[in-house]
Amino acid sequence: AKRMRLDKLLANMGFGTRSEVRRAVKQGLVTVDSIRAKDSGQTLDPETAVVVYNGEKVVYRDVIYLMLNKPQGVISATEDTRDRTVIDLLEPSDRVLEPFPVGRLDKDTEGLLLITNDGQLAHELLSPRKHVPKIYEADVLGDVGEEDIQAFEAGVTLDDGYKTLPARLVIGEKRTEEPSAVISRISLTIHEGKFHQVKRMFEAVGKKVVYLRRVAMGPLKIDPELPLGSYRPLTEQELDELM
Ligand code: URA
Repeated sequence: AKRMRLDKLLANMGFGTRSEVRRAVKQGLVTVDSIRAKDSGQTLDPETAVVVYNGEKVVYRDVIYLMLNKPQGVISATEDTRDRTVIDLLEPSDRVLEPFPVGRLDKDTEGLLLITNDGQLAHELLSPRKHVPKIYEADVLGDVGEEDIQAFEAGVTLDDGYKTLPARLVIGEKRTEEPSAVISRISLTIHEGKFHQVKRMFEAVGKKVVYLRRVAMGPLKIDPELPLGSYRPLTEQELDELM
């Protein structure tokens, strides 16, 4: 089987961040096949090695972390009776690990979606208390202006009465489409994730989102090399930043 670093195994199995588990190894809290581990960078076969962390046996389960550039037309769910889901875009060898999308993008929204089977990480990223920033790019029908920047900074009231947290709106290029509609390209950073939040925030200021794409979630940024509908595993660096 594939060999794996000890610190990676421990961090992936939820025993702490990489630096926390490295410290634990230094403190002599970890044994591998009954031998006290000295080097958290030592590699082992996670299927067969007996690793014990502070008296607790480490049970190995394969985890995956994928970055998908979600295309329009697929649903951010694991199953759907009518539509294709983001999970249907994965290779069977990835699908067997039972990954799920972390949070939701609308059927017509594109862009960054993290797909994992790490429930703990998903929980932390989605926790309303953590206020993980999400950055969206959108085309908005109408002339988005300074008054919208101020409204979003102050918080707007959605159709259900909810008042949004301060959000940062940046206005990009504007273009005119037939016959005389102005479309504004914008970027919006929000720190929460209500249902259809970006679309409803613009509705609250009388404007309509006609195209929406997520470009960042927490430390994760969409890989500009990743075509729509494609995915790749997160890099070691991305994982480190995330955990
Ligand atoms: N806000 C929306 O309106 N839709 C999304 O898909 C994500 C954020």
